[in-house]
Amino acid sequence: MNALEQKTALVTGGSRGIGRAIALRLAEEGADVAILYAGNQEAAEKTTAEIAALGRKARAYRCDVASFSETEQTVKAVLEEFGQVDILVNNAGIVRDGFLLSMKEEAFDAVVDTNLKGAFNLIRHLYSHMMRRKSGRIINISSVVGLNGNAAQANYSAAKAGLIGLTKSVAKELAGRGITCNAIAPGYIQSDMTDAMPEKAKEAISAQIPMKRTGRPEDVAQLAAFLAGPGASYITGEVIRVDGGLAM
Ligand code: NAP
Repeated sequence: MNALEQKTALVTGGSRGIGRAIALRLAEEGADVAILYAGNQEAAEKTTAEIAALGRKARAYRCDVASFSETEQTVKAVLEEFGQVDILVNNAGIVRDGFLLSMKEEAFDAVVDTNLKGAFNLIRHLYSHMMRRKSGRIINISSVVGLNGNAAQANYSAAKAGLIGLTKSVAKELAGRGITCNAIAPGYIQSDMTDAMPEKAKEAISAQIPMKRTGRPEDVAQLAAFLAGPGASYITGEVIRVDGGLAM
């Protein structure tokens, strides 16, 4: 029997990039998967078709994670459809880079609302469900810039650092209920998000990576599957880097 058989995962931002790789990896381990996406229906349906091809149940839900009420409705719909959520992966994220001097209020709010409040929303709406069942795995996708900061990413770094504080607080609150909460801090991972960076910035970051290669979404997905599985039952409140040594 696969490690995650009879488990259901909810992965935000599961339509593309790291979230897609995590959704597929969890499905390979036997989980049924609900993915949340912002607007790219074609990508979301492609991911659910790939999960279905692995013999697992999959549904995609269009839902803005930054909205408390939308996430509440979507969690209700997921629980009606799947009956349970055992694994929550808060992966949905955006960037609105720029130096602080000229950063618009909207750019700060949008990034914090999506990357940080989005995770709060999902945890909040699944809290009672996981408490009642006395089990659950929560995995928050932070970033190495949440640990180290980054010029022109004050909004994003603040949100990702906040996610680490959220992770540790939730871990302490729920540890006694058999629920773990951990964060993954990826470095430079190939995805639509990093493809949009200027070539020069990409080259500069790549040159600093001790392992001399950028990461793949699958590198992050391997760790997420481990944290969701039986081997990680005594690990909580951790922040684990997947960055080829970048933030050492
Ligand atoms: P990506 O390729 O840009 O994909 C972003 C995903 O998030 C998409 O599925 C998107 O849905 C979804 N999304 C965005 N805003 C949303 C919202 N308001 N509500 C619901 N879903 C939303 O990004 P990625 O590179 O895979 O990054 C995934 C996560 O890893 C993010 O949290 C990011 O900050 C973090 N991370 C990435 C890197 C990296 O180097 N790539 C490094 C460290 C951390 P649609 O497809 O519908 O747009």
